[in-house]
Amino acid sequence: MFIDVSDLKKSYTSGVVKNQVLKGIGLKLEKGKIGIILGPSGSGKSTMMNIIGGIDRGDSGSVTVGGVEINRLNDDRLTDYRREKVGFVFQFYNLVPNLTVGENIEVVASISKSPLNIDEVLAAVGVQDKKHSFPRELSGGEQQRVSIARAIVKNPKLLLCDEPTGALDYQTSRSILNLLQQVNEEYGTTILMITHNTAIASMANRVFKLRNGEIVEDIINQTIFPAERIEW
Ligand code: ADP
Ligand code: MG
Repeated sequence: MFIDVSDLKKSYTSGVVKNQVLKGIGLKLEKGKIGIILGPSGSGKSTMMNIIGGIDRGDSGSVTVGGVEINRLNDDRLTDYRREKVGFVFQFYNLVPNLTVGENIEVVASISKSPLNIDEVLAAVGVQDKKHSFPRELSGGEQQRVSIARAIVKNPKLLLCDEPTGALDYQTSRSILNLLQQVNEEYGTTILMITHNTAIASMANRVFKLRNGEIVEDIINQTIFPAERIEW
């Protein structure tokens, strides 16, 4: 298993109130597959994804990615893991506003061990003509394409997407999902994606339903739909 999470627990405490956000999560995903996490707001989706991506730490349990138990890494090693192995795509793009598109990607490429070619990546996501533009000059869909380019330029083993189409209209969402499926096929990147949209689940190999800090359903899809054919 490329991702192997077992009995993962996480709580936040404010004052005397302890909020158990993850209550013993188990999740497995094979290399090169697409996994989708569904669940209501507040169910712990982002918390779980952030732990898998090395942004946050669990309290207990094990999180193995590519054979490495990341919950046991010290802070420096965890930073290396996040930098070298994981690409992130967020709902609101998180591009640096005063850098051009090319520079936003260059920043990540420059700290990567074996980055892909920047022009190749921009072409792969379909915004090669925007290299010298600033993020504010781009539509939401174009900005999300750039953020995907930024995530994949380091050629990560794992791509984590937290509601990547949450701020996009229907057609643009489909084109972004289609792009993620293409990235998965062309680069063999394992993708874990959070969404509210149950229809999207049909483009995944495996679907995890999260409720109140627990996985309540774990479905392996026998048939995978191309994102461009999914309707909702
Ligand atoms: P989801 O992504 O499914 O909407 P989250 O993982 O963001 O859910 O949050 C799950 C719960 O954890 C929520 O009740 C949220 O308020 C709480 N939570 C998340 N991050 C923190 C934090 N840094 N400090 C305190 N509580 C947090
Ligand atoms: Mg969230």
